[in-house]
Amino acid sequence: MPDPIYLDHHATTPLDPRVLEAMLPWLRDEFGNAASRTHVYGWRAEAAVEQAREEIAAAIGAREPREIVFTSGATESDNLALKGLLRARSGRARELVISAVEHPAVADSAAALAAEGFETRVLPVAESGLVDPEALPELLGEATGLVSVIWAQSEIGVVQPVAELAKRCRERGVPFHSDAAQAVGKLPVHVEREGIDLLSFSAHKVYGPKGVGALYVRRGRPLLRLEPLLHGGGHEWGLRSGSLPVPLIVGFAAALRIAEAERDAEAARLLALRQRLLGRLRARLPGVRVNGDLERRLPGNLNLSIEGVHGDALVAGCAGLALSTGSACASARPEPSPVLRALGLPAERVREAFRIGLGRGTREGDVDVAAELLAATAERLRAERAASPPAGPPASLPASRIRE
Ligand SMILES: *Cc1c(COP(=O)(O)O)cnc(C)c1O
Repeated sequence: MPDPIYLDHHATTPLDPRVLEAMLPWLRDEFGNAASRTHVYGWRAEAAVEQAREEIAAAIGAREPREIVFTSGATESDNLALKGLLRARSGRARELVISAVEHPAVADSAAALAAEGFETRVLPVAESGLVDPEALPELLGEATGLVSVIWAQSEIGVVQPVAELAKRCRERGVPFHSDAAQAVGKLPVHVEREGIDLLSFSAHKVYGPKGVGALYVRRGRPLLRLEPLLHGGGHEWGLRSGSLPVPLIVGFAAALRIAEAERDAEAARLLALRQRLLGRLRARLPGVRVNGDLERRLPGNLNLSIEGVHGDALVAGCAGLALSTGSACASARPEPSPVLRALGLPAERVREAFRIGLGRGTREGDVDVAAELLAATAERLRAERAASPPAGPPASLPASRIRE
């Protein structure tokens, strides 16, 4: 059987062959430690890292390369932003504000900070999945140490009004962080223009290698101080100790360079594919609902609920497609997605939800096959359900608790 069509580009993306080419010399020939100051092996590695840092800074509109701190990925960047900032400011700042639709890397970091006495306030979202910037100021107080709102949501693809949120934070002197793992390389991201203080992003969401990401930390006044998560050799200005993964960093920069150069054309292409897919599916099948705002959304994202069809059963039933529900599912007790619940959708519609993530490798033929397979599988599942009344989800569903 051929591999299924990959429609899960929010979970990860394949390595672009051009990125691999850029990385190969640094895997094969060059092995120096970028922190070695006494010989040419180290100098060459350092030069490659600093060139990559410059390109990555430019790609997100940062003023200085020194504002880029390399990490192992967006999860670590989110942890460093939230824990690092609040721990460093722990005197006065005892509170943080996050949106109701954060990735677990932010939501669970905030939950972990509760054990240290930090309180979290939640900025709610409308049924569209969007926060209301007007609702933010009333959540900000003397004790607010940080506001964190995801730029583009990884399940529903909804794009938040980050510039408006950042502006309100700046007016109140509160630092603003955004998890932009799904936004960088796909949407115009310019930290200086949008007034962002901290930004998390990752290489493997933009056709780069897994295991490398960055945290942008604005320099200048007012000063942002961060407590490191890792202690050691004092790399990355003491913010992240550990020898730098030079091949991954070189690949990260190459991936962003390509994504930026192709961004607008690729966004238009993905949007057309998404419209084709949704149009075909709706022409074939009644009761197809889109979860989250359809306009303010990543071009390659769809989160759908098909009436009367459980998302888990649909994803499992479409063997020819690599899809996901984008939500956690504990073995026997399916746990509905906290993100979809935050939209206030009925429980049934949350259970029906599944996620489609189109990407660089997706072609017209793929979305046509996907529409046909989804429709046929949904029809079969509806018929089965009509024949035997629902008795909960089958026990053989994947027990994964991993959310991307
Ligand atoms: C994938 C993803 C992460 C985690 O990134 P890693 O680099 O895998 O740690 C965090 N936030 C969002 C929004 C993501 O999509």
